[in-house]
Amino acid sequence: MGKQTAWDEIDRKTAEIFEASDEIWGCAETAFTEEKSVKILCDLLRKEGFTVEENLAGIKTAFKGTFGSGKPVIGFLGEFDALSGLNQEAGLLEKKAVVSGASGHGCGHNMLGTASLSAVIGMKRYLEETKKSGTIVYFGCPGEEGGSGKAFMAKEGVFSGLSAAITWHPWDATIADTGSSLANYQVAYKFYGTSAHAGGAPHLGRSALDALELMNMGVQFLREHVIPEARIHYAITNTGGYSPNVVQPYAEVLYLIRAPKNKQVEEIYQRVNKIAEGAAHMTETRVEIDFVKGCSNLISNHVIAKKIWDNLVEVGVPEYSDEEMEFARGISENVGPSRFESLEKIAANFDKETKKEILSHKGESLYRFVTPFDPVGVMSFGSTDVGDVSWNCPTAQAYVMTWAAGTPGHSWQVVSQGKSGLAHKGLVWAAKAMAGTAVDMIEDPSIIEAAWEEMKETLDGDTYHCPIPDGCKPRAIGMTK
Ligand SMILES: [Zn+2]
Ligand SMILES: [Zn+2]
Repeated sequence: MGKQTAWDEIDRKTAEIFEASDEIWGCAETAFTEEKSVKILCDLLRKEGFTVEENLAGIKTAFKGTFGSGKPVIGFLGEFDALSGLNQEAGLLEKKAVVSGASGHGCGHNMLGTASLSAVIGMKRYLEETKKSGTIVYFGCPGEEGGSGKAFMAKEGVFSGLSAAITWHPWDATIADTGSSLANYQVAYKFYGTSAHAGGAPHLGRSALDALELMNMGVQFLREHVIPEARIHYAITNTGGYSPNVVQPYAEVLYLIRAPKNKQVEEIYQRVNKIAEGAAHMTETRVEIDFVKGCSNLISNHVIAKKIWDNLVEVGVPEYSDEEMEFARGISENVGPSRFESLEKIAANFDKETKKEILSHKGESLYRFVTPFDPVGVMSFGSTDVGDVSWNCPTAQAYVMTWAAGTPGHSWQVVSQGKSGLAHKGLVWAAKAMAGTAVDMIEDPSIIEAAWEEMKETLDGDTYHCPIPDGCKPRAIGMTK
């Protein structure tokens, strides 16, 4: 009985979970177009007897599957979107696309969604055997990459009413996350000018491209006068065309503004807007400010994170075959000079002794250890829409080793390893750690109580305000409207 029941069930169902993960790897659907992947996951949930609700929050590829009744209500978050341009053949030590330019699972979300599913399947068995009170909800969360799907879902109240939420992310190391992440806004600035013959009648033209360049220039100067933790990135998504002899009547730039807190992002956003308007004014063009998406900073919950850590340790590092070790070595040794960066980053936050212990793994092809629990937590300079869930209920996540040491994120190497034994074994480890944490929470209600207490303390009276304005709808990558 207890968590072993859930773990045995996870072991019994690995074949179909691996098949689902590999199939989703093959679908490689990008943000908000994940229809085939959603079908695979929903079919599995229905087969397992979960009540499935699709079109959650009015988003075509958002869904949830529920089992059980009463409290606590524990949410498991699953992602399944891919990245554009990262297509790659599986199991190779070199970069080689199957279809050049196509998308690929460069962030390992094929494993992310299926491991969370595996965890709820285990939990269903546990609830049936023990007849305990508890509701398990699997959330199918689309468009994490560049889409902040969970923030759109949170805006519609999808995560309210949860006692706690847990999730994980594939990685090259194994960590119970106690850090925060940056909130962000993604905004398109669209400049409208007047086209003219650039040689014959330049005085009649008003260049949208000039406005865009002046806006970027203004933002370069702004950088010195924002908090050092802020990040302002941009991509010029439309230059107006390929003809230098035309005064460009249209140009578009996509900005990504990040800072540790939603309020700080909002402040910088307002200043960037002034710069955009100033640039339009200077060039006698017009600017349209189009809010694309936003997500909140992560409120980490150390009470639940510690339980995840205990379970990662209790389940233990998987065993790997010689062939898997050989593959890991091939990938890891080819990464290049950045190979040890992730390990150094992990070690950086610890005391001298622990640092030494972590760095003793330098040179290994697979980081077969659980990183010591970090009670302080480091701030990640990335962002995740798990942040929006974490403002609604105590939320924690694990990073679990699913790929070779030093594998860079968002890379062909991730895609190459996505169907390997490393991926499958990491996925099961993550599923068991999450299920074990949920069992702990059901069996000892004081965990959830303490988690809420911690969350209240961290928020210190602050409440959730979704950064996404009313009327803003999720959109697929590259869609400007
Ligand atoms: Zn990613
Ligand atoms: Zn990811």
